Amino acid sequence: MVTANPLRNASPPRSLHIALWVLQSALGVALIAAGAWKLSLPFDQATAMFPWAADVPALYTVTSILDIAGGLGVILPSLTRVAPRTTVFAALGVVLLMLSAVVFYLLRGEPSETVPNLVLASAGGIVAWGRWRGAPIRAQLPVPTKWTSPLPDAAPPAEMRLYQLPTGTYRTRAALAVAGGAVTEQRAFAATAVLIQHPKGDVLIDAGFGAGAEAHIDALPSFRRAPHELADTASTQLSAAGYDRKRLLGVLLTHSHWDHVSGLDSLDVPIWMTAAERKYAAQSKSDPVFETVSRGHEIEEYPFDGPSYLGFPSSYDFYGDGSVVIVPAAGHTTGSVIIFVTVPSGQRYAFIGDLTWQLDGITDRLEKPLMMRMLADSDAKQVRQDMERVMALQDHLHVVPAHDMRGYQGIPLLKPSTVDAR
Ligand SMILES: [Zn+2]
Repeated sequence: MVTANPLRNASPPRSLHIALWVLQSALGVALIAAGAWKLSLPFDQATAMFPWAADVPALYTVTSILDIAGGLGVILPSLTRVAPRTTVFAALGVVLLMLSAVVFYLLRGEPSETVPNLVLASAGGIVAWGRWRGAPIRAQLPVPTKWTSPLPDAAPPAEMRLYQLPTGTYRTRAALAVAGGAVTEQRAFAATAVLIQHPKGDVLIDAGFGAGAEAHIDALPSFRRAPHELADTASTQLSAAGYDRKRLLGVLLTHSHWDHVSGLDSLDVPIWMTAAERKYAAQSKSDPVFETVSRGHEIEEYPFDGPSYLGFPSSYDFYGDGSVVIVPAAGHTTGSVIIFVTVPSGQRYAFIGDLTWQLDGITDRLEKPLMMRMLADSDAKQVRQDMERVMALQDHLHVVPAHDMRGYQGIPLLKPSTVDAR
């Protein structure tokens, strides 16, 4: 019977982890290099060096390809943390391949040829054991220490309300959304604005898709485009509900990426953002949408001049009553923020923007896939730290990743009857 040892699994010895990485990389690179070299040899040279290749040429080609496959299998799943357990099977495959070669050489009466194979088989065995038992690579982030201190004070006025304004969705694959996600699984990404009604003035969190969303998508480089379905814009939904625009103080951005700001094209209100995000947007090369839609808007910069908040180093209390508190989370972009909202019922929300794209990022402790961390996040380490902070808070609040429709469940839609007539 195999019983998991959670303590050991949670924090494998660092030295073993590093030693395994060195061995694993060396083994992988050696196999890939050997396989590629063998395949690149002209056949007469190959047979001169490996006399058996003349007897069984197909075996020569097949084993060279298996060398390369084994080398990739030993390195890639661990490196990408996509199905990292595959490393164990790849390493066992290498052991099997090398032992077969040993037997083959012995049968041919060439025992001296078996040395490299025995060395590689041993390395494969150590890697397989190490990544199985000693220091397995986890696709998941470690379990963070739960938040146990009292929650910060919040005095949301009784009239405060929260509404969701879904403006459409775009489709992507789970494999591109969370580490270990399936290539075959489709995910619909929400583009939803959230309206906070407050006696001191209302604010939207992000703006969703705008009237010019198609043009905005066309302006993106092709790798950022995805199949999408557009719904009513936030502006249209506000009008349909008979909403009084004079109440709207502006749009509070989680960050400036196109799918969060597109709707600014039809909202003539100030944009609330940090100086850092303004700078990020100005320097963005692959996303020109903010530049286009922010023209003519007043920009209200706010400082993180408040105390540390729920594990984050500083904060900005938007209304001064603790109901809407913004904290820096400068990992997805260099000026990203998280917006904590407490409503009169006492329910707390964390609008985390694109810290994770999907809720399983937080509930299952899954980072974005490696490639997306590299392409889409400014500072993957900061993202990880902020994910850990949010994961620690899960028991106390409702986490809303900007693009997960599940996150918005329970937040009512804006309908004529839900806009109070004050
Ligand atoms: Zn986004």
